[in-house]
Amino acid sequence: MKKILTLLLAIISLNLNAQEIEHYFQQIRNNPAKLAAFFAQMPKGGDLHHHYSGSVYAESYIKWVIEKNYFINKKTLQVAVKIPDNDIMWKSFSELRNSGKLDSIKFVLIQKWSIKDYNQVSYPSDRLFFEAFGNFDIASQLNVDSGLLEIKARAKAEHVSYIETILSPISNPINKIKTGADFDAKLEQLQLIQDSTETQKLLFKSYDQLKNQDMVQAANQFCTSTSRLHNSLGVDDSLFTMRYQTSVLRFETPMNFFTSLILAFEAANRSSLIVGVNIIAPENNEVSMRDYWLQMQMFRFCHKIYPKVKYSMHAGELCLGMVKPEDLTWHISSAIYDAGAMRIGHGLDIPYENHSYNLLKYMHKKHIPVEINLSSNEFILKIKGANHPITLYKQFGVPILICTDDAGVLRTNLTEQYVLVATRYPEFSYNDIKTIVYNSIYYSFIKEASVRKKLTADLDRDYRCFEKEVLSDR
Ligand SMILES: [Zn+2]
Repeated sequence: MKKILTLLLAIISLNLNAQEIEHYFQQIRNNPAKLAAFFAQMPKGGDLHHHYSGSVYAESYIKWVIEKNYFINKKTLQVAVKIPDNDIMWKSFSELRNSGKLDSIKFVLIQKWSIKDYNQVSYPSDRLFFEAFGNFDIASQLNVDSGLLEIKARAKAEHVSYIETILSPISNPINKIKTGADFDAKLEQLQLIQDSTETQKLLFKSYDQLKNQDMVQAANQFCTSTSRLHNSLGVDDSLFTMRYQTSVLRFETPMNFFTSLILAFEAANRSSLIVGVNIIAPENNEVSMRDYWLQMQMFRFCHKIYPKVKYSMHAGELCLGMVKPEDLTWHISSAIYDAGAMRIGHGLDIPYENHSYNLLKYMHKKHIPVEINLSSNEFILKIKGANHPITLYKQFGVPILICTDDAGVLRTNLTEQYVLVATRYPEFSYNDIKTIVYNSIYYSFIKEASVRKKLTADLDRDYRCFEKEVLSDR
């Protein structure tokens, strides 16, 4: 009897705490500074949608190319290992340092490699964003160990216990893995008439040729190098866990895309650290748009061959004005119904999808979450505030995840993403936000049940502590 009474008192006190926190949250929800302090300390579980190279800050990339004493073109700000021609505009970083010009070059390089100081006028924001990746590509190849530790340290500092980082595509030993050149043309023909049955048959035929020793070796090598790096750095510790997704580029030719996709699935099928596959690069690119249907068919095929591999898909990262209106009507639907996506990245064009209410109901019923990236959507597509469909997803009970996408390029963090949710969308209560945080572990692609269980238990513990502190210290 005494035990039951103690338990009842504990439950009552927890409920009172929850009510008090909710009350405090409602008081501060229009004050970004107070919210930033609140969310900076709040346990945030996981960040399930972010890209490694876009998450490292430009300052680190710049430091690394300076340490290597690479060369920079003072006019274009292109960076290279060697001077590509005799152009006098190329200088090494040490020459710049000696002539006292290094600081000014660093200043403009940050603006070129991120959105810092962007004035909304001089250049299209989506181009600036996507070109940044090409601009710092040479630097992002360096010091991946330091880069991983940087994003880990940043996550831990803002009480994020798990991150699922999207890595670049696995380098494709394309010279070794070859299929008949005529596959591309045949696939494009089948795409024109959207013949799913024949496409699947043809994919099976090409898979037969692709799946050879070279393919297995390339996938194995990727898994081994990832796990060696992960373990040697001690990335996982008692307070933090990191897992990886591998990815494929949308603008590849059909067979290159398919080869890359098979490699990605093969790797994700072999390693406990590679927990998923994703599809990356601008969705409005000409090839991405042309081959979207075909690429969904390829995911569908891979799911049959590798039924255990999870995949999240950037889908519907489009808006009115960016593409023709009819192109806004089917990408999320196809990612879900044709390709079988387990999570949707962005999902911005949902209001324009055919039968969008049915699609939203389906996502709710099948527990297919949407990964929301507010700063990214605002910068690249100019979709923010009431124009953002986050409230539509909420209305239909679609599980929501809050993520950063590219915190380095966008110069943001996860705390700021939660501040944006609270200030812009009054329909989200503190309790809703807590549910979003728990979603980030529940809908993660973590393979080991024990790890997921531990992260959930850690969240319980950390919330008890956080709520107690807020109530006593505010
Ligand atoms: Zn993304």
